[in-house]
Amino acid sequence: MKKLFTFLTLICLTAFVSAQSIEDKLVNRLVEYASIYTQSEYDVDEVPSSKCQFGLAVVLADELEMLGAQDVKIDEHAYVYATIKGNMPNAPTLFLSAHLDTSPDGDLKGKTPIPVVHRYKGGNLQISEKLTLLEDRNEFLPAAVGGKVITSDGTTLLGGDDKAGMSVVMTIAETLLKSPNIPHGDVRIIFTPDEEIGNSTKYLTKEKIAADFGLVVDSHGFGRIVVENFNATDFTFTVKTASAGHPGYSSNVPPLNIATNFISQFPEALASYNSSGKDGYLSYYKTKAVSSNEYVVYGRIRSFELNEMKLYKKMLLSWAQETAKQYDLDCVTIINGERNGNSDSIANVTLNMKDSYFNSKEVLKNYPTNYKLIEQAYKMAGVKMRAESGRGGSDACDITYMGIPTYNMFAGSHNEHSNDEWVSSKQMLASYNVALNYIKLMAEHSREEMLNDSLDKRNKKVSRDINIDIDKIFKNINDQYNTYPFSNIK
Ligand SMILES: [Zn+2]
Repeated sequence: MKKLFTFLTLICLTAFVSAQSIEDKLVNRLVEYASIYTQSEYDVDEVPSSKCQFGLAVVLADELEMLGAQDVKIDEHAYVYATIKGNMPNAPTLFLSAHLDTSPDGDLKGKTPIPVVHRYKGGNLQISEKLTLLEDRNEFLPAAVGGKVITSDGTTLLGGDDKAGMSVVMTIAETLLKSPNIPHGDVRIIFTPDEEIGNSTKYLTKEKIAADFGLVVDSHGFGRIVVENFNATDFTFTVKTASAGHPGYSSNVPPLNIATNFISQFPEALASYNSSGKDGYLSYYKTKAVSSNEYVVYGRIRSFELNEMKLYKKMLLSWAQETAKQYDLDCVTIINGERNGNSDSIANVTLNMKDSYFNSKEVLKNYPTNYKLIEQAYKMAGVKMRAESGRGGSDACDITYMGIPTYNMFAGSHNEHSNDEWVSSKQMLASYNVALNYIKLMAEHSREEMLNDSLDKRNKKVSRDINIDIDKIFKNINDQYNTYPFSNIK
């Protein structure tokens, strides 16, 4: 009995020691990566938008090579690719990804962040003379007690977004490469540039990623995993009129007035600023005078549900037609590039709608086994899974629509893009454990099995399980909209 006790103690101690050393590795990597300046820049046509991102790409590629990864490559856009060969040849290939750049919105402007490692015992945490992390304003700070909290010196952002994710991905790569006994399929490692300015998937293709499933480690919060995102359509409404003429004599209606008529039809209840959680929105956000006889309105449609999107598109179309009718103008529509109507006329209105991205749930739901593995990975790591709906697009969403079902999970960072950004070593470790469990669990399944599983579900589910309650959407809309003719909307 005593022997057994000693043996168990030894096992626990070994587990503790190795967990400690992984935690230290995560912290050390974060400090190293955060100390390299990689801010991306707006309004630069090239990828990467800042050459400094190559600096970190080289560090990561060298590290992957040193650890023994294969096919390590930096391409001309600073994407880093590598492969960790699996020991389970039938298992699906999984890719892990994080991004190189830090936010151009942060208070950085050429200053390299100075990471500071604090031993965190609870309570408020002073970052600098002027800056304190308040326990009651940081929901996940109590879950960081007993570990380390990494911040900047308070004068810049830290860049834990996404260098915490990068540390998790690199430490998993090291673990897999140094522990041949861990069962896993091929694992692809990908670091992307310019995520913060929306260009990180610009030069990615399914062939370059070369994986069956994916995990992006770039979400904030503790335990968060993004399981769906908005569908997104952007639109412009352009008014062209005959020459405005002399204001003292001309009776031509200026394009601004026609655009204002169009705008006046938007119910405030559907505006983006009145939308939160699972609500969608239909909003304009900018207008522009191109010339004295041309005016443009810019707007967005967002919703988690496709038939709500359809409804909003129809509403928009009917408003454009209504405005055109009132001013006796031709109404031209361009829907995803397909033009309809007479655009030769000198005076007309043009509604141009273009789908931008789609809810990844529409694809992810076809892979139920994959989702179960994620759930199980969280459970095994003892981490509460917070499945959330993302109110924007993401890398994971873009890659899912390339044909590689991909989730975006937490990395252990908080208060991104600000000077009080912080990362918890314990939460990075939790992220590492969940991702590693997911890799191990996936190795228990064959690629064929997971793909067949999804094919089965797709065949069974012919119709979409979307059920929109139109009354709910319009519950707050003014009386005038309650009488709006929706009879033609299916
Ligand atoms: Zn990020």
